Order: sequence, then C-alpha cells, then structure tokens
Amino acid sequence: MAGNWKMYKTPAETKAFFEKFRPLVEKSEHCEVVICPPFTSLAAAVEAAGGSRIGVGSQNIAWAREGAFTGEISGPMLKAVGATHAIVGHSERRQYFGETDETVLKRAQAALEFGLTPIVCVGERLEQRESGGTEAVLVAQFQNGIAGLTPEQFAKIVIAYEPVWAIGTGKTATPEIAADAHRAIRAQARARYGAPAADATRILYGVCVKPDNVKSLMAQPEIDGVLVGGASLDAVGFASIVNF
Ligand code: PEP
Repeated sequence: MAGNWKMYKTPAETKAFFEKFRPLVEKSEHCEVVICPPFTSLAAAVEAAGGSRIGVGSQNIAWAREGAFTGEISGPMLKAVGATHAIVGHSERRQYFGETDETVLKRAQAALEFGLTPIVCVGERLEQRESGGTEAVLVAQFQNGIAGLTPEQFAKIVIAYEPVWAIGTGKTATPEIAADAHRAIRAQARARYGAPAADATRILYGVCVKPDNVKSLMAQPEIDGVLVGGASLDAVGFASIVNF
C-alpha cells in the first residue's frame, strides 16, 4: 500500500503526519506500507518512520549516479537519506516533464542498481481509452520500458497501473476495468518472463483510491495493492486504506 504525496507536505507536516499515522498501522503486518513524500521531506519521513515497518520512497530518480543533471536526484543520494523505494514514470512525469518509456526504463534500472525498489507506473490517457487503445498502450509501455529489465531485475520491481483519464476526476476505474488492465499487464509479463515471475509480480492499482472503495478494488485477485495519491495525505484516511 503506497502513498504518493506529490508536491505536498513540508518536513514539519511530514513529522505531524507520521505521529498520527504510525500508531494506526503499527499492527498492520498483512502488507508493505510505503510513503513517497517530496524530496525535501524524505529525511523527515525516514526519521519519523524509524523503527517501524513503513518504507519511504522518492517520486522520481535520476538514471545517472552523479553528474551535470540540474534538478535531478540520484540513487546513491536517495539511498543515503534512507529511501527504500522510488516511483518511476508517473503519468504526471510523463505528461509534464517529458518522461518516455525509454527514460522510465533507465530510471528503473538505476533504482535497482542502487538498491531501491522501483514502483513503475503505466496507464492510458482518456483519448487512448476512448479509441479502444487501452491494451495497445499498456503493451507498448511494457515492451518499450519494463521489458528491457533482466529477469533478475524484473523480480524486484512493483508495477502500478494508473488509468490517467481518471486522475483528478474523483472517478475511479471500476474494479473490473482495473482487473482487466492488470490482466493485460500480467500477460505481457508472462510472455516476457514466464508464468512464475508474472504471478509473483505485484501490480498496484492507482487513481482515486479512497477508504470507501479500497475494499472492492482489493477484492479483485488481480489487484495486489494500491498506489494512493490525494487520500494518502490524510493519516487517518490512509491508515484506513492500509487496514482495509
Ligand atoms: C496518482 O496520481 O498517483 C494517484 C493515485 O492520484 P489520486 O489517488 O489522487 O487519484
């Protein structure tokens, strides 16, 4: 159960979140919990999560170890601050910051090289869904991005399916629509890496997951977890999602 805070929360707000959130998930051993704050709040999150099972992830990661890459943050830097995960290829990065399947692959490879678990996002836009192109988009994102990983690397990633057309609309895909997309992604994984690897891969569902719809989403066997945006900003709300 992963929370993507996007561009919200200062270090002080992060500390306050964890003070409320930690006791609410202390006994939640049925799942892995990861919070992905902005870069500037990573250190505060790692400190506040210290001694708990809560992982802390970044929302992006550079493909290079170091160098002249203004505005980028590298794997060794994230590792040094105590991060465990890195979101890669979020639709907002693809839409506003020119992220492509090729850069998504490079960033995922960098995360793995430096010991971080990449949460690799895929998903179709509205016009792609309306023109019946959902599966083709997911196939292309898989083939041009994820499929470049070795089997050993693939075994360590988490995939997140986010139907981009639903972001910010208050709507979510029905559990059945989400499960169909997850099946299409898993079929790609099966063809490239074999059934055991595909079955073992965790595919999270994202977009407008809330305390009141998480149960029906998680009831789908194809859905292994959720990537939560807005609703992860509230400690009580996100805790109730974790403890669905
Ligand atoms: C997201 O964009 O990663 C996301 C899950 O957003 P929300 O839950 O706010 O729709």
